[in-house]
Amino acid sequence: MTKIAIIGAGLSGLSTAHFLKNHAEITLFEKACDVSGRISTRCAEPYFFDHGAQYFTARTKAFHDFIQPLINQGIIERWSARYVKFDRYQIIERKNWIDDEPRYVGVPGMNKIAKHLAEGLNININTKIVSLKRGDAWQLTDESGQLYSDFDWVISTAPSPQAAELLPKTFKYYDDIKDVEMRACFSLMLGFSENLPLEFEAAHVIHSDLSWIAVNSHKPGRTDRFTLMVHSSEEYSEAHIDDGRETVMQHLMNETSNVIGHDVSIADYKTVHGWRYANNAKRENCHIFLDQDLKLAACGDWCLGGRVEGAFTSAYNLFNAMKEMENI
Ligand SMILES: Cc1cc2nc3c(=O)[nH]c(=O)nc-3n(C[C@H](O)[C@H](O)[C@H](O)COP(=O)(O)OP(=O)(O)OC[C@H]3O[C@@H](n4cnc5c(N)ncnc54)[C@H](O)[C@@H]3O)c2cc1C
Repeated sequence: MTKIAIIGAGLSGLSTAHFLKNHAEITLFEKACDVSGRISTRCAEPYFFDHGAQYFTARTKAFHDFIQPLINQGIIERWSARYVKFDRYQIIERKNWIDDEPRYVGVPGMNKIAKHLAEGLNININTKIVSLKRGDAWQLTDESGQLYSDFDWVISTAPSPQAAELLPKTFKYYDDIKDVEMRACFSLMLGFSENLPLEFEAAHVIHSDLSWIAVNSHKPGRTDRFTLMVHSSEEYSEAHIDDGRETVMQHLMNETSNVIGHDVSIADYKTVHGWRYANNAKRENCHIFLDQDLKLAACGDWCLGGRVEGAFTSAYNLFNAMKEMENI
């Protein structure tokens, strides 16, 4: 049976594995201590935060078909929030998502989707792959020098800058991938002992150092401890990604207090996480980076434009291209 190594156990790596598992022997390698990548959930009991992806939409039939069984099992649910748009400190738009395109979330956290998809797969966690070498077959080396040999194919699903560090320059699409830039984002997590009386549960913010505020605890299946999840704007994040976290947290908390009109410094729990590669600019076409000569491929949300559905679609397209080429 064909042996395939997949680097990364975020949504694109797990979706790729899901499609290929009946056609090949799959081994995944994930540098973090668990699966999920950017569809992650931070646990700080009694508070929980989806500090990566907030929700997602399903606009293609393929993705809809993929998530339907998870909806049936209660692993994915629709989030019907009261939505507002702030122009800095002023609300300029209101909507109720119950009357709008469905927004979906994992239940009880975004990471549940990844955990479910990971069931039954052969995954090496805490394993950062640092080099790929090809003789008769592919050999991977991790940070501790451990070798993993005899793979017919390697598929990288790491964010584009990390994929460019790993993939050999002889890869047919190396130059295309190294040119795909990704942008930073800070996630501010706030847990409260009392609910804040807000007029919304989901908000986009423009003309501010913030871009998003959500009552994370309002999503279906969460605990009732009130939590806010705040994201910084792309401009602020890019300019401050290397700054001290305490300074960043204070700045984002001050701006959050000003936007929502409540002092968030009273929060019981506060922390900030910096994502160096959070998202990237929208791309119209999903490129397929498949080098049949080297038996090397890459996919990820960055192939399409940095969203959950984009991560899935990149994996789906890659699988279909491999099936056609390899007859797997
Ligand atoms: C703050 C934030 C907010 C977001 N909000 C939304 C949203 O509301 N809606 C939406 O649709 N999308 C959102 N996104 C984007 C969404 O999270 C991503 O599009 C999607 O999760 C990407 O999945 P992926 O598998 O392509 O990449 P990732 O989830 O990044 O997975 C790649 C995996 O590869 C691993 N890896 C990298 N290098 C190596 C290596 N050398 N060896 C081993 N493992 C490696 C990483 O640890 C990671 O787990 C958001 C992202 C962030 C960060």
